[in-house]
Amino acid sequence: MSSLFPALTGTPADRPALRFGERSLTYAELAAAAGATAGAIRDARRVAVWATPTMETAVAVVAALLAGVAAVPLNPKSGEKELRHILSDSAPSLVLAPPGGELPAPLAGLPRLDVDVHATGLVPDDSGLDEATPALVVYTSGTTGPPKGAVIPRRAVTATLDALADAWRWTGDDVLVHGLPLFHVHGLVLGTLGPLRRGGSVRHLGRFGTDGVARELSSGATMLFGVPTMYHRIAEALPQEPELVKALAGARLLVSGSAALPVHDHERIAAATGRRVIERYGMTETLMNTSVRADGEPRAGTVGVPLPGVGLRLVAEDGTPITELDGETVGEIQVRGANLFTEYLNRPDATAAAFTADGWFRTGDMAVRDADGYVRIVGRKATDLIKSGGYKIGAGEIENALLEHPGVREAAVTGEPDADLGERIVAWVVPADPQSPPTLDELADHVAGRLAPHKRPRVVRHLDALPRNDMGKIMKRALTHD
Ligand code: ATP
Ligand code: MG
Repeated sequence: MSSLFPALTGTPADRPALRFGERSLTYAELAAAAGATAGAIRDARRVAVWATPTMETAVAVVAALLAGVAAVPLNPKSGEKELRHILSDSAPSLVLAPPGGELPAPLAGLPRLDVDVHATGLVPDDSGLDEATPALVVYTSGTTGPPKGAVIPRRAVTATLDALADAWRWTGDDVLVHGLPLFHVHGLVLGTLGPLRRGGSVRHLGRFGTDGVARELSSGATMLFGVPTMYHRIAEALPQEPELVKALAGARLLVSGSAALPVHDHERIAAATGRRVIERYGMTETLMNTSVRADGEPRAGTVGVPLPGVGLRLVAEDGTPITELDGETVGEIQVRGANLFTEYLNRPDATAAAFTADGWFRTGDMAVRDADGYVRIVGRKATDLIKSGGYKIGAGEIENALLEHPGVREAAVTGEPDADLGERIVAWVVPADPQSPPTLDELADHVAGRLAPHKRPRVVRHLDALPRNDMGKIMKRALTHD
């Protein structure tokens, strides 16, 4: 057992820790502020955090972890119904929020503590806390159903951050450009707790923009973490923004996750900057499972290899493990390791159903493995696997093919019932030019020219935008259930 943040006390006091817009904290200031908040909440069992992209959120979560109090980050953009559900499910004893500003009605009955980032208190010694102590309760993104509260123990946080440090050669010298929200694992655990555990620093953009990325990466920042929609915006901006090209070319590490990075965007960024974006794959329940390593070969469309300490297997529908490394045999990804959550809060049945009898977590994600063990995700079992004409077809490769068509700006692929084929492939397309959207024949020919003929779409539907959640993930349920 050891402290989650050894850098809070072992780092030169004036070293920068956090910057949000114009405001910044050194390690000494962060230690003092987190110590003060930790002292104020130490008798609580669980606290909610109004997780705006601010310094206060970072201080609140660090304080909770130091105090051994589980933090429940709340998405400030949640609707009242979702907030009510999360609050009654997680039953926090108070809510930590930035000073000022009203909180929505569902929070009215909860005691509120304003986080003071200039307060001073002593850093509590968290090194004696049990590794199984819940550190966070994070609600899943709600892409496939109502969000579930994953109870994440301290050991999962340290296991995942230390495995990533190994895979990414991540040190205290790294400076991260951060433009993600702070209520999910990506922006909170990786993007905020990660640099602080290493003794490095975070520069949060507040709102993601390619100008901020260019500015930070050309003034000392070394890494960028983003979701695919951000890399898409970068790929679109590169031809007009030479500063951005230069900044990305000089970065140590560009990392994408939370959803599949389209191959087209990966290739465009590589062509313009000479840099390949590294993909990593994780979930709220498992934190990080795989990544392309900093010293490995980044390849478009793969999420790399299992991280140190992560057991990973692919399993066929009948439950037998798949041993072929042929890039073709599809199975469900199952994982085990210290990086896993302990349970879904108040949902023993869902928790039990999520694990196999021999203790592996069923991710619900389907993948193949290449000859060298690289994992390629083909999609989610629930929404991305189309059974058509006797074939099992992953939506992802068809989406990648569609995105290479000049008339397609965004694409999502689903299956719908078909008397003849079982399911037929539907392409949902946001046209590059709404005045002349690509036709079904054009798109079917385009896909058939790249993939096997049975993978061509049979129906095309044009949309103004795809339904996406806060992390930019495509909500396929919203497409198929309307
Ligand atoms: P819910 O579980 O509520 O439906 P969710 O699964 O989107 O929502 P998260 O835990 O935030 O909630 O997301 C984890 C999922 O994101 C993974 O199961 C996987 O489908 C997807 N994912 C994450 N990283 C990648 C990646 N690099 N490539 C492809 N998919 C990814
Ligand atoms: Mg999920």
